[in-house]
Amino acid sequence: MTKDEMFDVVIVGAGHGGAQAAIALRQAKFEGSIAMIGAEPELPYERPPLSKEYLAGDKSFDRILIRPEAFWRDRSVTTRLGERVVAVDAPARQVLTDSGERIGYRRLIWAAGGEPRRLTCDGHDLTGVHTVRTRADVDRMVGELPDVAQAVIIGGGYIGLEAAAALTKLGKKVVLIEALDRVLARVAGEPLSRFYEQEHRAHGVDVRLGIAVDCIVGTNGRVSGVRLSGAEIVPAQMVIVGIGIVPSVQPLVEAGAVGGNGVRVDAQCRTSLPDVFAIGDCALHVNDFAGGAEMRVESVQNANDQAGVVAKVIAGAEARYASVPWFWSNQYDLKLQTVGLSTGHDAVVIRGDMASRSFSVVYLRNGRVLALDCVNAVKDYVQGRKLVETGAIPPVERLADSGVPLKEL
Ligand SMILES: Cc1cc2nc3c(=O)[nH]c(=O)nc-3n(C[C@H](O)[C@H](O)[C@H](O)COP(=O)(O)OP(=O)(O)OC[C@H]3O[C@@H](n4cnc5c(N)ncnc54)[C@H](O)[C@@H]3O)c2cc1C
Repeated sequence: MTKDEMFDVVIVGAGHGGAQAAIALRQAKFEGSIAMIGAEPELPYERPPLSKEYLAGDKSFDRILIRPEAFWRDRSVTTRLGERVVAVDAPARQVLTDSGERIGYRRLIWAAGGEPRRLTCDGHDLTGVHTVRTRADVDRMVGELPDVAQAVIIGGGYIGLEAAAALTKLGKKVVLIEALDRVLARVAGEPLSRFYEQEHRAHGVDVRLGIAVDCIVGTNGRVSGVRLSGAEIVPAQMVIVGIGIVPSVQPLVEAGAVGGNGVRVDAQCRTSLPDVFAIGDCALHVNDFAGGAEMRVESVQNANDQAGVVAKVIAGAEARYASVPWFWSNQYDLKLQTVGLSTGHDAVVIRGDMASRSFSVVYLRNGRVLALDCVNAVKDYVQGRKLVETGAIPPVERLADSGVPLKEL
């Protein structure tokens, strides 16, 4: 590639959103040149298994590739991997990479995801302190596991809980520390939080709630424990930090794109810069399913569907991002599937018996169904989607009766 190389579409980020954008462009019969620049050395791969089957050793890396190498070649998608875009020159329509090259674009799709938020306390950089975002992160962890008897996980969100389940399965003792008074507090209602808390305890995880971390302690540069705010030191040979992400948008914001906590986009995923789009974890958008609130959604669904919208727009078709959000999480033998966004709910209805480990939590606002969290309840998930899409107002007694199929409501 020469310094003057120019592509019709440059995609920054070879993760879920970036890969799907290239796939969808070709599906939309876009014939222009496409380059996908990714900071990681690997071809695009699925991130969700990193805290699930890949960490547990149940799936090899080959099986989590989004597409095999030949796919990209056959569709003339130029992949530049292990290369990072460090600046965007919007007036010149060029990106600058860390190898010092300038690459021109007609359209730019920013799909750079986010970086794990890191601790800032003493000991945060000791060997043995990990985050879970990339294959390299998990490979490092797996390499250390033979010497780990006890791991401390900081953060009781999905990634922390999934990592707890995977490590428990591998026979490790796990202590999970959450600063708030319940796990999944940011994303789920209290009943679901308490259910998962109990499940993890039942599997031997020592769940500590409402506790802050003071610092990470270590010897000879390697972690040996976590000191809690009350001065107790929990011994650990491994610490996993799962406290959210910081969207990777700096080059774009420095180039003048409106944003901060992500880059602001409109319903076509356009940023405020000409012919620059942003999708996925880093795209701050108005979400129809959050009552029009501006937010970033960190899910494969969001990345893929926004990629589809941008591909259509670039290929000259009409499109608007208005997809129903959905998400999943696998822990132990529990398959959680969620549809909709529960933010702002004012009532919760439980369908089914939580003790049977197959039930759904339905979130309502003014009687309207906002979202469902379905645990081992695929039918509710499939049928409940319509209720979320249409903003249905079903009778609460029937909603609570798991004998009444949701499609009847
Ligand atoms: C461990 C884990 C488990 C998850 N589980 C689930 C799940 O069960 N279900 C679900 O729906 N979602 C899950 N997610 C979230 C989901 O993976 C993300 O929402 C999705 O990957 C977002 O896609 P993206 O394209 O925005 O970002 P990513 O997939 O993160 O891709 C961004 C890519 O851009 C690269 N990049 C960043 N900056 C630059 C730059 N300047 N130049 C070049 N490249 C750059 C990054 O290295 C990365 O490869 C999980 C995430 C993680 C980390």
